[in-house]
Amino acid sequence: MGQQRETVALVAGGAGFIGSHLSDALLARGWRVLCLDNFLTGRYDNLRHLEREPRFDILDADVTDPLPARLTRSGRRLAYIFNLACAASPPHYQADPEHTLLTNVLGTRHLLALAQAHEARFLLASTSEVYGDPETHPQRESYWGHVNPTGPRACYDEGKRAAETLAFDFLRARRGDVRVARIFNTYGPRMRADDGRVVSNAITQALSGDDITIYGAGEQTRSFCYVDDMVDGLMRLMLHDSDYRGAINLGNPDELMVKDLAARVLRLTGARSGVTYRPLPIDDPRRRRPDISIAERVLDWRPRVALDAGLKRTIAHFSGVAREAAMIPLK
Ligand code: NAD
Ligand code: UDP
Repeated sequence: MGQQRETVALVAGGAGFIGSHLSDALLARGWRVLCLDNFLTGRYDNLRHLEREPRFDILDADVTDPLPARLTRSGRRLAYIFNLACAASPPHYQADPEHTLLTNVLGTRHLLALAQAHEARFLLASTSEVYGDPETHPQRESYWGHVNPTGPRACYDEGKRAAETLAFDFLRARRGDVRVARIFNTYGPRMRADDGRVVSNAITQALSGDDITIYGAGEQTRSFCYVDDMVDGLMRLMLHDSDYRGAINLGNPDELMVKDLAARVLRLTGARSGVTYRPLPIDDPRRRRPDISIAERVLDWRPRVALDAGLKRTIAHFSGVAREAAMIPLK
């Protein structure tokens, strides 16, 4: 009997928070994983545990540039391409807005062309930000969004919207098979301490006894999904064989106010920090909660990890006790 061919996946953005967890999950399935990353917000530390993994390789490259010849001319066929390359935190993606926009538009174009060349299935990590500051609640995939195209968040929001457009044009032109995930706020171990998002800020502030910063009155809502649930959703989306090809929301519908998140972090860390109020950033969405009925129906997916359980693991991670963190039960 001939040797079975190895499944090879490319994870663009694989050194980042979600991408590194996704790479772990793909390797656990027995696949070979190529991580392509420019290390803008990603870190080698997220991948250090894979240093001796023979089925894992890193390509240090920027998706806005022509892709490395090793990919475009490689003899090894890529079966799956996950495009997660793009800084996700507002302060990071706003630091160089032009590069953020091009990462989404040019980067997605380069990776779609690669998918066509390899006949690889392609998944785009889009975002709930395509809904902007939503006028409907919860957000369904059929909602077209309420995005300010000229504001400071536009480089990301409009970049992802254009990336979705490219992906669906590609599909309509029968150039390949694409799947689009609209990811809602995701948190967990391996977020950067200086990431700037509310979960990592609140935890690092509480652990160092600093005041927790709340933007605005803290009455804006978000719905936070633990990273293991998100990775499970992304895998199911990539692998499902149904005919459904629209974008699919992935997120945890458990919605809470930002000030209540801060209170939970204080309770779970036992910190005595106070709270400092800062101005609400421009165009900050007021409410956000995914309607996940399509993910439930098409992917048989729903999040399993409750916020307290996920926060406990994330807190342990930020306390520097990664091994103990892995042992904290998620249920
Ligand atoms: P992250 O910043 O940790 O990861 C992004 C990765 O992409 C990093 O490793 C970064 O170095 C890399 N990258 C950025 N620009 C690149 C470029 N031009 N070329 C190559 N690599 C590049 O963010 P994350 O939270 O892991 O998010 C992963 C993906 O999921 C992103 O596309 C993001 O837009 C999307 N998403 C995340 C969330 C969330 O809450 N975490 C929500 C919605 C969407
Ligand atoms: N936020 C906050 N304090 C912080 C960081 C963020 O109150 O230290 C608020 C932010 O204004 C937003 C919410 O928390 O209303 C979620 O912000 P985050 O950057 O985590 O994700 P976003 O949903 O904005 O992409």
